Amino acid sequence: TLLVHWVPLVECTMLTGVVAVFHDISDIRHMEKMRRDFVANVSHELRTPITIIKGYAETLLRGALEHPIQANKFVSIVHSHADRLASLVSDLLTLSQLESGAVPLDATSVQVHDTAQHVVALLEQKIRERGIRVDLTGLEGAPCVMADPGRLEQVIVNLLDNAIKYTPTGGSVTLRSTCEGGNVTIAVQDTGIGIPSKDLPRIFERFYRVDSARSREAGGTGLGLSIVKHIVQLQGGTVSVQSSGQGSTFFVTLNRAETSDSAALAPTTAQ
Ligand code: ADP
Repeated sequence: TLLVHWVPLVECTMLTGVVAVFHDISDIRHMEKMRRDFVANVSHELRTPITIIKGYAETLLRGALEHPIQANKFVSIVHSHADRLASLVSDLLTLSQLESGAVPLDATSVQVHDTAQHVVALLEQKIRERGIRVDLTGLEGAPCVMADPGRLEQVIVNLLDNAIKYTPTGGSVTLRSTCEGGNVTIAVQDTGIGIPSKDLPRIFERFYRVDSARSREAGGTGLGLSIVKHIVQLQGGTVSVQSSGQGSTFFVTLNRAETSDSAALAPTTAQ
């Protein structure tokens, strides 16, 4: 779309001509549309749990409280939707912090294996409940990467959490690393439901989901992968995904840290 401005050329008080200035405003329009879509998505995502919480609270106040079994069920529904709201608000805050650059990212040498172990400990209950096997042996001896430790942890939490969410009971998730030149690539591979090829190009967009109902049911906000992408790009890295029918693998490539720590420099045992 071209926006044309006619600018009069004035010399002293005499009009001597006009110049046409062309601005390509398709980018501006596109950004404006993305902003409107985002606001609409946020409103929708927030309104759904609020409506549910309000509805069940009203039902409880109108008498369901007197029936303990029913009341118990309704309160737990309220609780789970309040949890959902909290995750959504927390993810939105993270995204806005990342986008505004309000919180500068640290860049220190981080041990990938230690970080992954910590994440597995954080998600231990979920991993156990879902009956998924998580294998970190491919990260042993991985070189350190240059990253913000808290943000790298968040990247691995989001990828591992997705791998667990979208892998049926009995499946497995494998983390490994490979090293090439000055880069370290961390791969998170699962044996789960996979991602159709038509959805792969859009999977890192905010609120883009293959199956919204399934994502919500699993406690997803639709923002996890866009947070991953933002963090990795802010650290000068890249993210990508591969999926063919069954299972998915997410790859995060970051700069290898210059370190004198011999353990950290040991060759990777990646498979
Ligand atoms: P969500 O909170 O919905 O999981 P994400 O941004 O983390 O949001 O992921 C976006 C979508 O990508 C998910 O809704 C799901 O459809 C798909 N997805 C992400 N990770 C996986 C995975 N490991 N296996 C299958 N699908 C996945």
